[in-house]
Amino acid sequence: MTRHAPLIAELVNLATARWRGGASVHPLAGEELAATFAAQLGDRTGAALRAVPDAGRRLAELASELRQALLAEHAADQAVRINALIRRYGAQPYLVEDVGQPFHLHFHGSGGTQVEALGGEFATALALIVDGYGPDRFGQCAAQQCEAVFIDVTRNASRRYCSAPCTARAKTAAYRSRHRT
Ligand SMILES: [Zn+2]
Repeated sequence: MTRHAPLIAELVNLATARWRGGASVHPLAGEELAATFAAQLGDRTGAALRAVPDAGRRLAELASELRQALLAEHAADQAVRINALIRRYGAQPYLVEDVGQPFHLHFHGSGGTQVEALGGEFATALALIVDGYGPDRFGQCAAQQCEAVFIDVTRNASRRYCSAPCTARAKTAAYRSRHRT
């Protein structure tokens, strides 16, 4: 389930962040959001997503709910939000065999479109990360001028930045401020 972590963060960041990596960005919506996110998925899933009527609006809604769950201040509030997402998207576990791969577990939502399928999958992934790693594995990038979220599945839970460039920017900023004073 941790394999979904970068995708979940990317959906949230595409649709909600106004600053990323030190630059002002405009949150994507509508067709632009659907096409950009679909390009990050496998061919089949991406095509199914693009075929959903109103995919952009539904994805934006999912992204905003995921962001609230990721950045919930208390573990109890976070659990309530994740549980609500699992119910809303009707996540159901079932075993899938893709060509050339062993059977593996999916948690597609049961709402009918690819957005609901992804919603169920992502909500369950967050629940499994909380279950396996604890409630403190989600955060917003600590670098300046960045609102990107991240999901930390490192062994020592040390992550504070969304990306390698933000880690480098924060180090440079800390170095400069040390040498100014
Ligand atoms: Zn960042």
